[in-house]
Parts: sequence; structure tokens; C-alpha cells
Amino acid sequence: MSLTTLENLFRFPKVPEFAKKNFNEFFLQADKVMLVLIVIQWIIATFVTSISYDTYLYGFVGGGLITLVLLLAYRTFKGTQVMRALVGVGMMLFSLIYIQQHLGRIEMHFHVFIALAILTLYKDIVPIVVAALTTILHHIVFNFLQLSEVSLFGMPIMVFNYGCGMDIVILHGIFVIAEALVIGYIVKLQIEYAVELNRSENQVLGLNQELSFTSLHDALTGLPNRHYLYTQLKLMVANANRYNHKFAVLFLDLDHFKNINDTLGHNVGDALLKAVSHKLKSIIRENDIVARIGGDEFIIILNDFSDTAVIEPVISKILDTFHNEWSIQSHFLRLSASIGVAIYPDDSKEVNELMKYADIAMYKAKSEGRDQFSFFTATLNAKIHQEVDIANDMHRAFNANEFELYYQPKIHIESGKIIGAEALIRWNHYEKGLIPPNDFIHIAENTGFILKLGKWVVDETVQAIKRLQNEGYTINISCNVSTRQFQNINLYPDIENAILSSKINPTLLSIEITESVMLEYLEVTLEVLKKIKNLGVRICIDDFGTGYSSLSYLRNFPIDSLKIDKSFVDDIRQNSDNEHILLNTIIVMGQTLNMKIVAEGVEERYQMEYLRDRGCEFYQGYYFSKPIPENDFLELLQKNHAMSGADRDLI
Ligand code: C2E
Ligand code: CA
Ligand code: CA
Repeated sequence: MSLTTLENLFRFPKVPEFAKKNFNEFFLQADKVMLVLIVIQWIIATFVTSISYDTYLYGFVGGGLITLVLLLAYRTFKGTQVMRALVGVGMMLFSLIYIQQHLGRIEMHFHVFIALAILTLYKDIVPIVVAALTTILHHIVFNFLQLSEVSLFGMPIMVFNYGCGMDIVILHGIFVIAEALVIGYIVKLQIEYAVELNRSENQVLGLNQELSFTSLHDALTGLPNRHYLYTQLKLMVANANRYNHKFAVLFLDLDHFKNINDTLGHNVGDALLKAVSHKLKSIIRENDIVARIGGDEFIIILNDFSDTAVIEPVISKILDTFHNEWSIQSHFLRLSASIGVAIYPDDSKEVNELMKYADIAMYKAKSEGRDQFSFFTATLNAKIHQEVDIANDMHRAFNANEFELYYQPKIHIESGKIIGAEALIRWNHYEKGLIPPNDFIHIAENTGFILKLGKWVVDETVQAIKRLQNEGYTINISCNVSTRQFQNINLYPDIENAILSSKINPTLLSIEITESVMLEYLEVTLEVLKKIKNLGVRICIDDFGTGYSSLSYLRNFPIDSLKIDKSFVDDIRQNSDNEHILLNTIIVMGQTLNMKIVAEGVEERYQMEYLRDRGCEFYQGYYFSKPIPENDFLELLQKNHAMSGADRDLI
């Protein structure tokens, strides 16, 4: 045996932290087993080994003392090393009793060995060392007593007739040490095995934890995901019920995040989302939760409060943190967010419903101008329900042909002649009568129904152009196309098909789009617009001047005409010499860019005159005519053309 092998034999593995807990469980179990064994030994000492020697009392009292001490020690020391050492002593003292009861040395060693082996239950070397020392010690004491022929309990000296010399004592000591070594080695193997088992168990556990982390967290930001959020919400509901508390579900959506993604790229977008997650985590309290449930959508749970007023400043603080400048990959960004709030249990006791309500409230915050929060309310809910009803009803109405286009003439100011019209949708509801588009278009946009409806509008407009042409009126008619339609790839093919199948001259069709269309999907929109323009279709910017009018897009996009928003026309008052700088500038700008200018919402003669004097060529408005059904429009055309001479294709 080399030195390293010896070293190896004696070096006991240290139990690492992660295995300690499991070892403690071992110790506690072993303590109990040992106590049972001690009691059994006591019974053996009293009733078994004492029978042939008549030493009942000795076995009963001696064994009883040992057992009692250990039972008492268990109460205070269970699981500790003190308990283990005491058990070691107790086990060996029993062998003293057996010897006293005339059991031969061989049997005694048998007992010692069994006791030591039993002690390996502990997977701890200490009780074995203690037991071995106890054995050596009691041999010495015992032999001394033998030599001096002393009887402890007044028993006949004859009991000690196994007396021997000191050399034998030393030999016994060596035996005991050898036994201790063998058993120590077994313990060592046991520890190594147990530690290894623990390690692999831990690894499996760690793997599981890692797996469950990735399935419960969002890969980009590391925040809890929707799945995890729902499990947490269930706990929160239980907690809120128990302590009679409330909690708030905040639905947070970044404003115009898509712009950042589209203009600066996804890398910047992702980095921003990470920064936002980090920031949100840093401002909420420890038992609140932030989760990311979609692109730029976050849920924040504000936990434990009893009065709703308490959370308003917290929400304001969250909104405020967005106002600081965000420095992302050397871009300095300005941000804002919109937040919707629903409260448990006030708004709902149902988790899914709470999330839905917070979402609804968030949309309200968005529609009221963004960068704000709004609480869910019952009226908001009623409104949403009403909208859902309308959305459902629209499908029925579509099949029942309840939609109709009205036409509002566009007038050439100079000649007073109708040179075109705008097609505006109406809903002839079988029960409710005529419903204006402002009551249902935004709902159709939200539900996506606008795609179907928009296609119908294009088809119907083209048909109307053809019918009017058959009546002898070749005029341009425009229809409104909403942002949502631009997000859909079918817009271009729909327009193309409508024109091809009706064989109209494409220049007779115009589409009206708002500035927001161009802002939101710059590149895609530009591409689609160019294709539509290449067909020959005219493009008109609607509500011009209300959005983020920017010269650059006016120059880059293939635009034919600008429609000055009604609000500018409203500002023109009678008998006032005020100049309307913005309005004048728009007219001049349009002229410079070679676009046709149409003023909309002209209700008074003086408004029309002001516009005419500033160089605006066309107008539309109640002053001339409201939007009217196709037949009425045809009549109007007939009257108008009879009055105003030769045809001029002006728009
Ligand atoms: P818009 O495109 O700005 O249409 C002009 C609106 O102003 C029309 O309201 C028209 O009736 C109204 N108007 C015209 N002249 C005057 C006037 O002198 N005084 C006043 N007070 N109002 C005037 P309408 O028809 O209720 O349409 C409202 C909005 O609904 C439209 O605004 C348009 O954005 C949308 N819309 C209408 N039809 C369609 C459609 O077929 N598709 C899409 N996507 N949107 C449509
Ligand atoms: Ca329009
Ligand atoms: Ca308009």
C-alpha cells in the first residue's frame, strides 16, 4: 500500500453544501434507528444474556441507564454530532454489560463489530471513532478491575475469570482499531456514493430548473412570460382573498414602438425593449411583477394595496420614467407608453377577464392621445360590448347589402362645375336607420372587417364610375382607404382587378389616404403606393395639415392632390381680414409641388371665396352639396353640366 493510497483511505470527503441538507435527513433517520436498536439491546441485556447468569438486575439497571441517557439526549441533540457521538458511546457500553454478563471476548467482539457496522448508518466517522475509543477504554478499565478483583455490583469475583495480561489488552485495542478502520472505509465509500448521488440529482434538478426558466421566461428580456404570469396571478388571487387586499393589473404598451423598429432596425428595437424591461424591474417593488407578453406589451402587477388612490402616483412614476432620454446604441430616443389598469377584485375576480379589461383600458389611453393611463370602467366595458355587437352586426349587414356609397361632389371653384366626387360609405341599418361611418369604420378597422368592406368600396366605386360614364359623365371618383388596408397585401391586387374587370380608365379612380398611412409603414407603403400609382390611379392626401405633415414625404411619395382639412376651412370667418398663414402656406406648397389642392368642409360662400382668392382650385362641402345617393348625384350632375358649359377633365 503506497502512501497516497493510505492518505486516500484516511481522507474523508467533505460533504458539500448542496448535499448537507440530505445528510441531515440521514442523520435524523439514523438517530431514530439507533434509539430502537438501543432499546432492543436493553431488552437483550435484561432478558436474554442474563438468563443463564442470573444478572437480570444488572442488565436492567445498566442498560436502562444507557437507554435513558440517550432518549433524553435525543430531545436536545437529535441530528447533531453530539447525538451521534453519544450513540457511539452507548453502543460500546452495552458490550461492557454483555461481558459483565459472562459473554466471552469473542462474542463481545462480535457485538463490537456489529455495533460499529450499525454505526455506519450515520455515514459519519465520528461515532465510529468515539465507539472505538470507548471500547479501548472499557477494556483497560475492565482489565484493571479484573486484576484488582473488584466487583462493582457485589457480584461474585468469579465473574471475572477471563482475566488476562496487559499485552492482551493492547492486542484487543489493535483489533478494535482495525475494525474501526474497515468500517471507516465503508463509511467513506458511503459518503462518496451519497455525495455523488446528490450531485447528479442536483444536476438533474438544475437542468429542470433551467428548462423551466426558459419555458417561463421571455428569451429577449428574461422577464416572466405570459405563462408564468398566469401562474403568478393565480397565487395573487389566493393571497388577495386571504388578506382582503387588492392588486392592479397594468397593461403597458409602448407608443409608436413600430416606428423605432422600422426606422432604426430590430437591433435597436430589441436593445430598447431590454432597457425598458430593466428599468421597469428597477422601479417596481419586490413583490410586484413585470412580465412581457408580446412585442412591446408588458404587464405589471402592483400587489397588496387596499386603496386605489395609492397606486396612481406609482403609475404616474412609471409613465414618467419613459420621458427620460433613452440612449440605445448611440441613438437618443424619446419614448412614451400607454397604460390600462384593471383592479382585482373591483373590476373582476377572474384573471382572464382582468387582463382583457386592462387591455381595453389601455386602448382607451391610446385613443385619448397616448402617454397616459386610464382605469377600466363599467361604461368603457359597455362601450366595448356595444362595439363588439356592432362588429358582429356588420357581417350580417354586409350580406344583407345594407352598405351603400354616397357621393359628395368636388367643385372647380372658377367654373362652378362638378369635376369629381368622393365616395363615402353609409350603413342603412334595417332597424337603426342610416349610420354614419364615424360610428363603425374604426370598429371595422379594429376587427379587420375593413379589409372586406374596403374591397367592396373599391369595387363599388369603380362600378359607379362605369355607370356614370354610361350616362355620359366621365368624372373622377375617390374612395377612402384606411391604414389597416395598407397593411394587407391584397390592397394592390384588389384595385388592379377592379380596374381590369370593369375596363374603366384608371385615372378616373382616386384613393384618399391620411398622412398617418405614410408615417407608419414607410417603406412598404411607398412600394404599394408606387405600384398603385403606376396603374394610373390618382393618389390624394386626406385631412392634410392635421398630421405630421413633412415636406420630405410629400416630395418622395407619388401624390397627385392634397385635401386641406376641414378645421382650416372652419377658421375662415366672415368679415374678418385675418390671414390664415398655415392655410395659405399649404396652398402655396401644394402649388409648388404641382399638386391639386382641394378644400373640404366648405359650408359658406365666404369660405369658398377666401380659398379661391388664395389660389385653391377645388372644394368640397355642404355649401355645394352634402354626400348624396348615386341617383341624386346623377341628377345633380345633369343640372350642373347643363349650366356650366364644356367638359373639363380637371382632377
Ligand atoms: P373624410 O374622408 O374626411 O370625409 C369627409 C367627411 O366630412 C364626410 O363625413 C363628409 O360627409 C363630411 N363633410 C363634407 N363636407 C362637409 C361640410 O361642409 N361640413 C361638415 N360638417 N362635414 C362635411 P362622413 O361621410 O361622415 O365620413 C366620415 C369619415 O369616415 C370620412 O372622413 C372617412 O375618414 C371615413 N369614411 C367614409 N367612408 C369611408 C370608406 O368608404 N372607407 C374608409 N376607410 N373610410 C371611410
Ligand atoms: Ca376622405
Ligand atoms: Ca377628410
